[in-house]
Amino acid sequence: MPNLTDAEAIPDAARAEVERILQSGDLFRYTSDHSPVALLEAEFAQALGSTYALAVSSCSAALFLSLKALGLPRDAKVLIPAFTFAAVPSAVVHANCVPVLCECGSDYRIDLTDFRRKLPGCDAVIISHMRGHTSDMDVIMELCDAAGIPVIEDAAHSLGTTWAGRNIGTIGKIGCFSFQSYKMLNAGEGGIMITDDADLIAQAIVMSGAYEHNWEKHPVLHAAFAKWQNQLPLYNLRLNTLSAALIRPQLSALSERVKAGRRNHDHVAQALEGCAWISVPSSLPAEERAPDSIQFNLVDLSDAQVDEFVREAGARGLKVQVFGRSDDNARAFWNWQFLEVNPDQPMTRAMLDRACDVRLPARLGLAECDVVAQAILDAIGATMAPSPV
Ligand SMILES: *Cc1c(COP(=O)(O)O)cnc(C)c1O
Repeated sequence: MPNLTDAEAIPDAARAEVERILQSGDLFRYTSDHSPVALLEAEFAQALGSTYALAVSSCSAALFLSLKALGLPRDAKVLIPAFTFAAVPSAVVHANCVPVLCECGSDYRIDLTDFRRKLPGCDAVIISHMRGHTSDMDVIMELCDAAGIPVIEDAAHSLGTTWAGRNIGTIGKIGCFSFQSYKMLNAGEGGIMITDDADLIAQAIVMSGAYEHNWEKHPVLHAAFAKWQNQLPLYNLRLNTLSAALIRPQLSALSERVKAGRRNHDHVAQALEGCAWISVPSSLPAEERAPDSIQFNLVDLSDAQVDEFVREAGARGLKVQVFGRSDDNARAFWNWQFLEVNPDQPMTRAMLDRACDVRLPARLGLAECDVVAQAILDAIGATMAPSPV
């Protein structure tokens, strides 16, 4: 079995830059006017086609600052998918808002019927494009624009995905991304937010920790900052220069990684296609994915058979995660016990109990992908074989 757990290696160009920064000791973004963090922001905004970017300590920090910069009042309701990472409801709670969970279907995307039902009365929406599966952004933006409700895209794990030719993260008012090791660009930790709204990014920059006149080191219309001086709390969620130096050379490798990840995903999806016990949800017509993993649903298996399948895969050296079949999975909403109100979401629960997740890093070759696909098929064969009499 190929190694599926390791993150992407750090390019040599980054090592040289890290060494240079270590020799200068210049680790704080506001020491110089041309910090690698500011360069990363300019390059990232340009690559995505956005006007402004702010690099911060994590995608969670970006989501939190987005909610704060929207000026939501205490106890404002934020509609989020019931299938997302625990960091999302956590960011909502951190911003003194209340998450409202929206059902997700067996294709891992927002259920639009439930979305339409729950949107009225909400003050903001966060859409998580889980593992690159993009919900129908045309319908979502039409509904939210008509209601005047701002949309934050949590594209933490979807960098490189496009919707109708547009980069994910540029469709809503704000897009947030992660540089944690298991995302498309690996800095260990880190995040970034993008927007075209000068007033919004000015507030986020100040709150991220641009104390005193450090906002002058951001190329945003300075008029947008002047009115926020001394008016906002400083949460200090900055990115350090070493992290930016690790990410910048990876940004130019992004399109290659996206292509390789999509090739690997589609190759394994095709190999699983003929299996009656497995269904791989297809992408939506407007969506071009950037996968670094594959998700598929087990069909007509009991709970015991699902658990048996995971064991059989494990015996073949393949780690399969079924989101709903462990005590502590951070993507299972019933494990978000820190929420005061957390009603059952039966549609999402049914999906999580059958949805499998297998990492397929872009660095794998097709022969290695074949080994992964064969292990899945062998494990399901062993699980579902008629027992000997
Ligand atoms: C990883 C992830 C996050 C959190 O990102 P951090 O940078 O670790 O805070 C949020 N949402 C989704 C969908 C993620 O996959």
